[in-house]
Amino acid sequence: MSRLVVVSNRVAPITEGQATAGGLAAGVLDALKQQGGIWFGWSGDAVATPSGHAKARQQVGPISLYTIDLSRKDYDEFYRGFANDTLWPVLHYQMGLSKFTWEEFSGYQRVNDQFARALVPILQPDDLVWAHDYHLLCLADSLRQAGCRNRIGLFLHTPFPAPPVFMTVPAHAELIQAMCQYDLVGFQTETDRAGFSDYVIRHCEGELVETTEDGQVLRAYGRIIRTGVYPIGVHVDETRNQAKAQANRRTADRLRGSLRHRQLILSVDRLDYSKGLRQRFQAFERFLEDCPAARGGVSFLQIAPPSRGDIQTYKDIRRELEAEAGRINGRFAEIDWTPLRYLNKSFPRSALMPLYDMADVGLVTPLRDGMNLVAKEYVAAQNPEDPGVLILSQFAGAACELDAALLINPYDSVGVAMAMDRALSMRVEERRERHAAMMVVMRRNSLDRWRDRFTSDLELARPAPRGTIAQAVARPSSLALS
Ligand code: UDP
Repeated sequence: MSRLVVVSNRVAPITEGQATAGGLAAGVLDALKQQGGIWFGWSGDAVATPSGHAKARQQVGPISLYTIDLSRKDYDEFYRGFANDTLWPVLHYQMGLSKFTWEEFSGYQRVNDQFARALVPILQPDDLVWAHDYHLLCLADSLRQAGCRNRIGLFLHTPFPAPPVFMTVPAHAELIQAMCQYDLVGFQTETDRAGFSDYVIRHCEGELVETTEDGQVLRAYGRIIRTGVYPIGVHVDETRNQAKAQANRRTADRLRGSLRHRQLILSVDRLDYSKGLRQRFQAFERFLEDCPAARGGVSFLQIAPPSRGDIQTYKDIRRELEAEAGRINGRFAEIDWTPLRYLNKSFPRSALMPLYDMADVGLVTPLRDGMNLVAKEYVAAQNPEDPGVLILSQFAGAACELDAALLINPYDSVGVAMAMDRALSMRVEERRERHAAMMVVMRRNSLDRWRDRFTSDLELARPAPRGTIAQAVARPSSLALS
């Protein structure tokens, strides 16, 4: 088995142990534990003169963590600028919020080059390089230019939009050409995979693109690129155990005491415009309007830790939500009842699990989301005998698997309000049935399977610069998702 080299924008220090880590971190740590290897990324420090070299940070068993520093200019152009102010909104179909400059795109390419140059000296010829997410779309291209001939894969945690949406980024052609330097590009859903594949097939100007009938293997820019669908999962049993663990229950006990037997609707999201919080607040208001009997008997708790607070669109959404929460409470609250509790703070993951468990409804309504792990954690945390109901946006990647949830359109406040009413009064038999159906899918598409399928497909995807499509597809692969 080849050594694994994971590259992501940030590296999670291995402090509290794996049990507390989120999706990417937990999946990556599992893979590294199993295969041994390196996790490489930005240190999080923006310094005056970065050395450009990788620093060994931590060694835990067979896992070595390496980081590099960035300059303030790198941070502004690469991270705050192109990655989060241009790509993130477009990947989430929010083109109107995307800002673009060629300077920031150059900064993005420059940092991908810096990652590559720092990585090459620590790579061994047979290493598998596994890059993660939208910060590193150009990494394989940078590595190839630095002479790297290893197998290199990318897993995109975000959605990948349809070509006309992606083409609103003026540097779309450069990005796709760079992505074609990967041997394997993995997506959360078939819609995302098809978006990328369609772009390559239809829009790579001047390129004679070849493809297999199903569009999964492509030949462009003289390279073979495999694509596949690898929905990220959660550790199902561990999540339920965390939900039951006495040590995690302090916050949940405080919440239970304050609810005084009212029903609970719970949402947990980073404060991000893609999560649809404004539309969700409006839907809750609509629910209170349309279902007067429910007033006083239900509380909606929105946990929304701030994120990317130095970007204007994030400042705007935060201000807007504070005003909306105040307005809705001003309109409906009673002396002994606050309908909407809005918390701008983060909780340790272990403390969230008992909150999921006690919530009658998990309300997950992003306008667009790569997967949405909160939806999966909510389901996994439930007591199977008396489970809560998941209301899930049809535009979250998780909806492809969790179709036994109450699927809604987050832009339809009436539909979401009706789903709240239905969920709060759903009989236990129906709740059990829906929960059991979702658990079957979640056990099958576990976090272990996500990691194993991606790494084994990458292992099989030998670089074949002059290979043909026929040779590429002749190799065995687990690309098909059952
Ligand atoms: N999370 C957390 N503490 C919080 C809020 C969220 O640990 O206060 C975790 C949550 O349990 C989940 C992750 O952050 O594992 C969010 O992942 P998701 O895919 O839902 O959204 P993302 O933030 O990656 O867009």
